[in-house]
Amino acid sequence: MTEWDVVIVGAGAAGLFCAGVAGQRGLRVLLLDHSPKVAEKIRISGGGRCNFTNRLLDPAAPQTHFLGQNPHFCRSALSRYTPQDFVALVQAHGVAFHEKHKGQLFCDTSSEAIIQMLLAECGAGGVTRWQPCAVDTVVQEAGVYVLQTTQGSVRTPQLVVATGGLPIPQIGASDWGLRLAEQFGLRVVTPRPGLVPLTFSGSDWAPYAELAGLALPVRVTTGEKKQRMAFDEDLLFTHRGLSGPAVLQISSYWQPGTSIGIDLLPQVDLRAALADAKRHSRKRLDNALAAWVPARLAEAWTRQDPLWQRALPEVPDKALDRLAEALANWRLTPSGSEGYRKAEVMVGGVDTRDLSQQTLESKQKGLFFIGEVVDVTGWLGGYNFQWAWASGHACAQALVARG
Ligand SMILES: Cc1cc2nc3c(=O)[nH]c(=O)nc-3n(C[C@H](O)[C@H](O)[C@H](O)COP(=O)(O)OP(=O)(O)OC[C@H]3O[C@@H](n4cnc5c(N)ncnc54)[C@H](O)[C@@H]3O)c2cc1C
Repeated sequence: MTEWDVVIVGAGAAGLFCAGVAGQRGLRVLLLDHSPKVAEKIRISGGGRCNFTNRLLDPAAPQTHFLGQNPHFCRSALSRYTPQDFVALVQAHGVAFHEKHKGQLFCDTSSEAIIQMLLAECGAGGVTRWQPCAVDTVVQEAGVYVLQTTQGSVRTPQLVVATGGLPIPQIGASDWGLRLAEQFGLRVVTPRPGLVPLTFSGSDWAPYAELAGLALPVRVTTGEKKQRMAFDEDLLFTHRGLSGPAVLQISSYWQPGTSIGIDLLPQVDLRAALADAKRHSRKRLDNALAAWVPARLAEAWTRQDPLWQRALPEVPDKALDRLAEALANWRLTPSGSEGYRKAEVMVGGVDTRDLSQQTLESKQKGLFFIGEVVDVTGWLGGYNFQWAWASGHACAQALVARG
C-alpha cells in the first residue's frame, strides 16, 4: 500500500493542472487515469487546436457565460485564476496562439502544445502518473481514503475527483465521479448533454431535411421571460437537424419538449426589403429572397406556399408579410439531441450546494471535485477549459494549505 498527500483521479484538463500546481508547492501527488493516454478531450478540442480560454470572461459576472443551479458558484475560483493567468503560463511555455471570434484563444499549431505544457508542469512538480489505472473501490477509514486500484492499494487524506463529464464515452468519459459523490451522500444535479446538435423529425422538418451543409448567421432563442436566452451566431443544417455555434449554445439552455425560435435574418428588415423589391423587380420571389439568404434556403421556404412561388409583383402584400414574419420568427420543437456521442459538455453534475466555492471541497472532508464533474457549465468558446484550470487551481491552493 502506497501513501500520498493527494490522489487525483482523472488526468484531463482539471486533473493535470491541479496536479502540477499542488506538486510544485511540495505535495506528493499521485495522478491516475483509466485511459492509456492523458487529456484526450484536450487533444480533440477546438477542432484539434484547443480553444483554451476566453479573453472576454468576466469573473465578476460568471452567470453571463456559465450555467448551473447556482451560476454564481464559480465566481470565487474564476476570479482567483483568470484567463490572463493562464495566458501568462501559455506564453511562459512559448506556446503560440491567436484570438478568433469573440475572445476565443486557440493554439496556432495543435492542442498537443497545451497537453505537453501541462505534462511539463506536472513533471516540474514531481507528480507520479499511473495509466491506465482504474479505481475499483474507495472507502474512508479513520479520515483516510483507501483506493483499491488496478495497480494496487493507495492511501491519502485528500482525494480529488477530476473525472469530467459524460460526453464522448469512446475516449474515456465515465460516470464514476457522479457515483462516488452519491456513495458519500452528496447530491447530484441530473446530468444532460450540452453544447450538442439538436435533432428534428416528422413532417414539419421535411422541407429542411435536404439543406444539410448549409450555414448562415442567425439569432436563436429559447425560454420565456427571465429564463429567455438568445445567441447571435452561425447556424448549420445537418442530416438530422441543426448544429453550428448558435444551436450548440442554445442547446445547453433548451429544455426537452419546448421550442426554440430562430430569426433567419436578424440584420435585415425583410418586410420592408421585400416591399421595396416588389416595387422595383419582376424576379420570382425565391430568386429575390436569395439576395438575403442562401438560395437553397430561399427555395425550401418558398416551396411551402403556392403564393410564394410567383414573380414578386404577383405576390399579395399579405403573403410577403407572412413570409417575412415566418423567416424572422421560425419556431420549431426539437425531437431531441445527438446526445453524449456528439455533446461537448455535460450540464449538471455534483451539486454545488454540497461543495465549497473557495476550495471545491465537498461536505465529505478531504473529498474534492473539480472541472466538468461539477454542476458548472460554460458557454462554447474556451469557458469550459477556463473552469477546469480555475477550479483545479483553487483546489490545489486548498490542498497545499492543508499540507
Ligand atoms: C469535441 C469536444 C471539443 C471541445 N472543445 C473545447 C474547447 O475548444 N474549449 C473548451 O473550453 N472546452 C472544450 N470542450 C470541453 C472540455 O473538453 C471539457 O469541459 C474539459 O475537458 C473538462 O475538463 P475535465 O478535466 O473536467 O475533464 P476531462 O478533460 O474530460 O478529463 C477527465 C479525465 O478523467 C478520466 N476518467 C474518467 N473516468 C475515469 C475513471 N472512472 N477512472 C479514472 N479516470 C477516469 C478520463 O479518461 C479523462 O482523462 C470540448 C469537448 C469536446 C467533447
